[in-house]
Amino acid sequence: MASTFVLLILSSPSGAGKTTLTRKLQSRFPELFFSVSHTTRAPRNGEQDGRDYHFVDRARFEELIAEEAFIEWAEVHGNLYGTSMAEIERAKGTPGCGGMIFDIDYQGARQIRAKVPDVVGVFVLPPSMPELERRLRGRASETEEVVQRRFAVAKREIEHYALFDYVIVNDELPTAFSELEGVVLAERSRRARRAHVAERLLRSGRI
Ligand code: ADP
Ligand code: 5GP
Repeated sequence: MASTFVLLILSSPSGAGKTTLTRKLQSRFPELFFSVSHTTRAPRNGEQDGRDYHFVDRARFEELIAEEAFIEWAEVHGNLYGTSMAEIERAKGTPGCGGMIFDIDYQGARQIRAKVPDVVGVFVLPPSMPELERRLRGRASETEEVVQRRFAVAKREIEHYALFDYVIVNDELPTAFSELEGVVLAERSRRARRAHVAERLLRSGRI
């Protein structure tokens, strides 16, 4: 059976739990590739070049912009982040790949949506602002200044929730995850993504 290919954007204010949800999604759906972005941000403890991000300096990032290597890019929290066309080509060129997960901000989501209308957008919300601050602070790798900067822009990020198709509140992780899993399963069953099956049956004769 021809597989369905879903491009899934996951966005949230920093600290709402998008990375945690993405990791769980990857183990539940190993056929979904994670889009590895380029960034000028320094690696956090435990982050690996090529797995979490492609870490590059600003000059290299600007070269890539000039070469039109990105399907989208944006400045977020003072650093540049971008999704390269090559990431999507890699997924499309791999047999059995069921799609991609993009962990990107609302500016990137808007740019991809303009180019790929059937992309699926999911926005993850924290249950409350104090809980968001607690989670940001709980991520021990961040300095207080980084925590404050990220918390200060969280409201502006939440204002853009209407750019997305689904909104998931990450209060209890298992509940949030099962909602996300439901989104992937429902999106795979969309008529447009299953039409080829119906058409094949219709062409198979003996009706
Ligand atoms: P983001 O990728 O959105 O910045 P993370 O996935 O890194 O967020 O999560 C931020 C912090 O909150 C991490 O320490 C993570 O373990 C924690 N966290 C994520 N989801 C929950 C949840 N549902 N309840 C409590 N803590 C959570
Ligand atoms: P972090 O520094 O915490 O890994 O990511 C900070 C923010 O940048 C998050 O909102 C994340 O989704 C966003 N981000 C990561 N990669 C990209 C990308 O390629 N493009 C855009 N537009 N945002 C990204």
